[in-house]
Amino acid sequence: MAERRTCKHCLQGFHPRPQNPDQQYCSERACQRARKRHWQQQKLLADADYRANQRADQRSWAENHPDY
Ligand SMILES: [Zn+2]
Repeated sequence: MAERRTCKHCLQGFHPRPQNPDQQYCSERACQRARKRHWQQQKLLADADYRANQRADQRSWAENHPDY
């Protein structure tokens, strides 16, 4: 089963590796760099969300425990 995909960066068709069926970028160096950059951005966003959630948790905990 040779599924053909379109690279998200260069928009060329490519075949994802069997080890990585969710692959969205081809193996071109520029596209791998774009993939890494995208991943780092997502990670930064996720970290920011995570920290915001933690702060919200602490605040609601303090509101529910006014004795502390
Ligand atoms: Zn590509």
